[in-house]
Amino acid sequence: MLSFVYDILPSRVIFGVGCLDRLPEEIERLGATKALVLSTPEQRQSGLDVVARLGGRAVGLFDRAVMHVPIETAEAARDEARKLGADCCVAVGGGSTTGLAKAIALVSDLPILAIPTTYAGSEMTPIWGLTEKGLKKTGRDVRVLPKTVLYDPSLTLTMPAMFSATSGMNSIAHCVEALYSKDANPIISMIAEEGIRSLAHGLPAVVKQPNDLDSRSETMYGAWLGGVSLGAVGMALHHKLCHTLGGSFNLPHAETHTVVLPHAAAYNAPAAPEAMSRIARALGADSAAEGLYDLAMSLGAPTSLEALGMKAGDLDRVADLAVQNPYYNPRPISRDGIRALLDDAFHGSRPQASHKKARAE
Ligand code: NAD
Repeated sequence: MLSFVYDILPSRVIFGVGCLDRLPEEIERLGATKALVLSTPEQRQSGLDVVARLGGRAVGLFDRAVMHVPIETAEAARDEARKLGADCCVAVGGGSTTGLAKAIALVSDLPILAIPTTYAGSEMTPIWGLTEKGLKKTGRDVRVLPKTVLYDPSLTLTMPAMFSATSGMNSIAHCVEALYSKDANPIISMIAEEGIRSLAHGLPAVVKQPNDLDSRSETMYGAWLGGVSLGAVGMALHHKLCHTLGGSFNLPHAETHTVVLPHAAAYNAPAAPEAMSRIARALGADSAAEGLYDLAMSLGAPTSLEALGMKAGDLDRVADLAVQNPYYNPRPISRDGIRALLDDAFHGSRPQASHKKARAE
């Protein structure tokens, strides 16, 4: 019988090619007059462009965002915001830059206007992360949720094809786990299924023709839906494993999601049949796990942890870490099961649909 809780997160989204032109009026709408712009060193030029568009409403550019928000970077950015008297942060970039804006908002309540340039989805979530002494802490706090998000697909044209593929698979992972989340609800499940459909349709075209704005738009639309899914409901085994692999073994974020996802889906398939059939339907595949694997393969994305530099000798430790601290997962977590999953992900073997496995047994 239907029973659920659904919290709606407040944020304003402007979507469309060229919508970056609306930045000045959106900053005005927020009532901000002293925006601190944030970027990575690699996207400094985009940061400068945003500063120029803001004119007198910008007080500076902090261009030192890096992956996983080291506490030292967060403190430096917080100091800069204080020193300049900023009343708003404008983050132009991927999850790392949005994450830095969130680190500032967490201690200052400054509103964030996010201009995403990848498919990571952080701009739609109240989730923050900070890394201190090699350990990444995360939490949920609605103060860090961007107030306004400008999705301009033309800003993704510069994303290399392979980063587009893995970043898109990262977004699909948010949708997949939303469908079997402990807080799953009918609205978010519709959003998640549509997210998978848009990403699975848009990504192959993006990889083939990275300059095509139609497929860039469709993919970014899917990434928005992935971000909404991640922000609204809790995640499970897949995100826990990727967090462990990224945090403790320094594996790259989007690539790790790409490799692990089909195997996490295969692990959970027997316990979440309805979610799996929705995922398979959105992918146009016979089974969720196989469909996800085949999509990654067709994009030319990495499919094994070995290819990402993981050492076979570390798999036992990952399995140990993944069973520590209980967390929700549709299928109970067993150390042996996780170890077998990791083995498959390490070698990049094609997962077998549970119905085929069952027939073979
Ligand atoms: P990223 O932000 O680290 O970007 C990777 C690199 O690509 C950077 O050098 C960046 O400057 C560059 N880049 C970004 N957009 C580009 C573009 N359009 N063209 C060319 N280069 C571009 O990568 P990401 O995958 O977006 O973010 C990963 C980080 O975000 C991780 O730390 C992850 O934990 C975090 N994250 C957080 C949430 C959340 O809800 N808090 C959600 C997803 C990801």
